[in-house]
Amino acid sequence: MKTINIETAKKTGQKVELAGWVHSRRDHGKIIFIDLRDRSGLVQVVFSPDKENVYKEAETLRPEWVILIQGKVKERPRGMQNPKITTGKIEIEAEKLEILSQAKTLPFEVDKDTKIVDEETRMKYRYLDIRSERMKNNLDLRHKVISFIRNYLDKEGFWEVETPILTKSTPEGARDYLVPSRLHAGKFYALPQSPQQYKQLLMVAGIEKYYQIARCFRDEDQRGDRQPEFTQLDLEMSFVTQEDILSLVEDLFVKLIKTITPEKKITKIPFPRLSHSDVMKKYKTDRPDLRKNKKDPNELAFAFIIDWPIFEYNKDEKRWDPCHHIFTSPKKEDLPLLDKDPAKVRSWQHDIILNGNEVGGGSIRITDPAIQEKVLKLVGITKDQIQARFGHMLKSFEYGVPPHGGIAPGLDRLVMILANEPNIREVMAFPKTGDGRDFMMDAPTKVDTNQLKDLHIKTG
Ligand code: ASP
Repeated sequence: MKTINIETAKKTGQKVELAGWVHSRRDHGKIIFIDLRDRSGLVQVVFSPDKENVYKEAETLRPEWVILIQGKVKERPRGMQNPKITTGKIEIEAEKLEILSQAKTLPFEVDKDTKIVDEETRMKYRYLDIRSERMKNNLDLRHKVISFIRNYLDKEGFWEVETPILTKSTPEGARDYLVPSRLHAGKFYALPQSPQQYKQLLMVAGIEKYYQIARCFRDEDQRGDRQPEFTQLDLEMSFVTQEDILSLVEDLFVKLIKTITPEKKITKIPFPRLSHSDVMKKYKTDRPDLRKNKKDPNELAFAFIIDWPIFEYNKDEKRWDPCHHIFTSPKKEDLPLLDKDPAKVRSWQHDIILNGNEVGGGSIRITDPAIQEKVLKLVGITKDQIQARFGHMLKSFEYGVPPHGGIAPGLDRLVMILANEPNIREVMAFPKTGDGRDFMMDAPTKVDTNQLKDLHIKTG
């Protein structure tokens, strides 16, 4: 196995085998210097003419060729050291060089920040874009955040459970992505807008503490910074109060930030718990930016928004829409208002906001089938539709359902803010364009008529 580039910093005097990409090449007189790049960083490799065969080959090297070298780690002469990089005090005296693959001239330079490159080109050649330091660091940060979350929740007794991607329509308020069934002509699966129903059914199943780094699919018009698929830290717990959920998420985020991005300062701990009506009165928005100094990129102002109204009136459709989703429990003391004055009913919804962004939402759920039916009717779902779409949920509640609730912070937005990036595409390995296209894979794309026939689909 090759040595990782940055580890050579501790290996002065030793022989190493390294492999990676030619980041840059400089010729000084007769000496050739290569900056060899691997995922960990750069190391300087020196080829001198006295090792004739190796030197000859080194003369052919071009940027982004993939090479393997063997050589000795030596301290750099004084005055030649570079304090900016981990391996800045050493260099490798090359003794053997093998060219593993050559590279054409890249469509853009990856040894500089690619922010200035046209985004469609970056997406088309995402595998090159990710070679750049900023993109690689963003993926590294994302990996560290996810791995911290997994360890933290494991210690807290959560189980990570996978839920299906091929499923049935879920009510998060967006359009579904549909997948036609070959075996069941005319029928469709839907990709999950979130694992909402499954996580609640896992509570009925007795799992008590569930989480998943879950992919969610929503076919929305791509306004602003949205993606057709995105990732949530989806979690659900049984036998908890709203405050239990909030304090768990707060503790997770505080520790995560302290460990992974210690340069960030959280404005207020505990995070303020603010009522929806107060916030609306004071800031005229349900996600105010509560930073003390809005120019400070390292300030993080979290808050929880609670005491939401359960419904908002949809004037166009002349009906009540849930503020969160239809499984959100009304507050007990407001139950009598459900029939009389739905606008006044408050719910157990909680949103988490960060620097003016909504970074997650959740609630304590309805567990009484009668209340669930009532809420479904109020949002205009007919009795038949209730049975067809949510019969399984209502039925499950008849077999011993624990009180439960959860939350689902959006991972992309959180990592975006921690990385000081302006949009979530910068922290996703393979994002789509604003209108949902993948330029690299060329998706969506036409398929051949036989595939359509198999799926019982006629077009045109
Ligand atoms: N499923 C919800 C959402 O995606 C989150 C939750 O209620 O836990 O917003």
